[in-house]
Amino acid sequence: MKIKLQQHPELPDKARVDKTANWIIVVPGNITLPSIKNLPYGEFIDLRRKQLNKKFSNKTVFSCDLPNRNITHLAFACIDPEISSFELLGIAADLIKQHRDFHGQELGVILYGYNMDAAERMAEAVISAMLAAVAEMPEFKSGKDRKGPVLNKINIFGVKTAHGFKRSFAEAEGNALARSLSMLPPNSLTPTDYLKEVKKLAKVNDWQLQFYNLELLKKKKAGAFIAVAQGSPVADAGIVRLIYRPQNRSSAKRKLSLVGKGICYDTGGTNLKPANYMFGMHEDMQGSAVALGTLLALSRLKVNYPVECWLALAMNHIGPKAYKQNDVVTACDGTTIEVVHTDAEGRMVLCDTLVLASKEKPSLIIDYATLTGACIYSLGTAYSGIFTNREALNPVLIEAGKDSGERVWPFPMDEDYDKLLESNIADIKQCSRESGMDHILASRFLQRFVKNNVPWIHVDLSSSNRKGGLAHVPTDTTGFGIRLTLNLLMDKKVMDWPEM
Ligand SMILES: [Zn+2]
Repeated sequence: MKIKLQQHPELPDKARVDKTANWIIVVPGNITLPSIKNLPYGEFIDLRRKQLNKKFSNKTVFSCDLPNRNITHLAFACIDPEISSFELLGIAADLIKQHRDFHGQELGVILYGYNMDAAERMAEAVISAMLAAVAEMPEFKSGKDRKGPVLNKINIFGVKTAHGFKRSFAEAEGNALARSLSMLPPNSLTPTDYLKEVKKLAKVNDWQLQFYNLELLKKKKAGAFIAVAQGSPVADAGIVRLIYRPQNRSSAKRKLSLVGKGICYDTGGTNLKPANYMFGMHEDMQGSAVALGTLLALSRLKVNYPVECWLALAMNHIGPKAYKQNDVVTACDGTTIEVVHTDAEGRMVLCDTLVLASKEKPSLIIDYATLTGACIYSLGTAYSGIFTNREALNPVLIEAGKDSGERVWPFPMDEDYDKLLESNIADIKQCSRESGMDHILASRFLQRFVKNNVPWIHVDLSSSNRKGGLAHVPTDTTGFGIRLTLNLLMDKKVMDWPEM
């Protein structure tokens, strides 16, 4: 994804517009007619607006071809500065969609009628939507040639920033990595293949890599992880630990830990899923892909604290050795777990991973997992659920979701929920057969395995897949979570919170 960005504080003239085949213009909804006419082709745009029976008002979007030799295609939008980030990103995706097949290698974007902050925010949304749309995703269609020119340059007019939208590029790269890994078919991304990919990334990005294979995990007595892994005919499951070390470490001794669920295929195990529920379960590793994508984005931005990334890679298979209901297994912290449902494998692989991650005493752990159907029933697929062992964080988590456009909503974490996980035979039940609030119970289960009272945020990715895409992301697979996390870390600065 090599796309060059150039910024110009001024407006382009007509001749400059004629040189480029693809344009986007964004103005506020209260734009006046005399003001519109200051834009290149302003009178023509106003004429087309009248012909299309549209008004200049918030959320108006239309497209037209300009009367020049290039037949420049223009997508035009009115967006008020107060618009929510989620809606803004959605309109930005619409504008990009108006171009669908770019008929040139260059896109011009004009922001007009805004103050600098608003212009920057509009530009950021369009850039993010464009990067999300042009990212290459896995495709296995034979004999299909790419049609049309490949977009490789974006020119922004009406805003010039010092940062050059570096963060948007980093987020887009992380998101594209998360989506493309998640879309790979399950026979192309086994834990073996996944580890190979991660090794390549580690080499290129100078991350230290350790792999806790099943032999090592047996030594560490990670019985919950092994219970899931033992159903696979190939013993390739394991936990990857990646470490990013900054070149210029800040004086504060902070360290971030990212954890992800990487179930490369989830059949449900012995409690086999029916076909309609199993379909798409190759994406049950998306949590790990989001953790990896976040690590990539943070590395690109050269954050000044170390980041560890733990990926729990396994398959949840059926087979003679697969774990089953009523098994009692022991996690690596010594907790005994009564298995209740083999399809609740995510919390099994995560609990051992969380113990290993929290033993390193990071300042914060964030885990990502496509964990429960209950979270989807509660929120739908346009929001993800969020949980934390620091209740004071909840308003900040909501705000980070709103500001980033990757929206989350918190759920309660009160101790009395644990009653539903009381077991007659072991320390804890894996889940409850009766309860409909499995997303809360799963979080209560996981928090037991976060050691040393490390601050912890758990994201239940109910918005990992949504028909037609979500916000600026046009594919069903959303890679949700990276923008949210970067907002939390870089805008809300949660790592600097003294009360953490
Ligand atoms: Zn499952």
